[in-house]
Amino acid sequence: MRCEICGKKIVGKPLKTKIDSSVMEVCRECSKFGKIIREPTTPRKKSFRKPQKRSRRPMDTVYEVVEDYGRIIRTEREKRDWSREDLAERINEKVSVINRIESERMEPDIKLARKLERLLKIKLLEKFEADDLEKSEGGGFRGATIGDIARIKRG
Ligand SMILES: [Zn+2]
Repeated sequence: MRCEICGKKIVGKPLKTKIDSSVMEVCRECSKFGKIIREPTTPRKKSFRKPQKRSRRPMDTVYEVVEDYGRIIRTEREKRDWSREDLAERINEKVSVINRIESERMEPDIKLARKLERLLKIKLLEKFEADDLEKSEGGGFRGATIGDIARIKRG
C-alpha cells in the first residue's frame, strides 16, 4: 500500500483522509492535509447508519385527545354562555363539527384541538413519546408510523 498523495510506502494501515471532496488513503504525514475520516484501528462493528438521537425527536411524539373532550368543551362553552354556533364561528368550523365533537362522535384533530385549547383555555391533548409507547406495550412498534401507533392504541 502506497500513499495516494506522496507515493511513499505506508507502514501499517493507511489513513482514510478527506481532502477537498475526495477520500484518499494516505500516510500519516499526508493526512495532515485533510480530515481523517476514520482511524484504522476503529473496529468495524457499527453499521453505517446516520447517528440519530432517539430521545425528544418531535416526530416521536404522539398526541392523543383526552377521553372526555366532549364534556370539557361543552362545559367551557356553556360557562361563557356561548351557543354551539358561537363556538363554531370563533374557531372557524361548521356547527355540525361542534355537535359531533361535543357528543364525542368525532375526535378533533390536533389542529382543531389546539384551537379549542387556546380559545377555551383547556387542555385537550395528551403528549406521548413513542419511546414510552414502545415500553408500555411491550415493544414491536419499531418502524411503525405514528399513524400505526395511533391506530393500534385506539384498537
Ligand atoms: Zn503521503
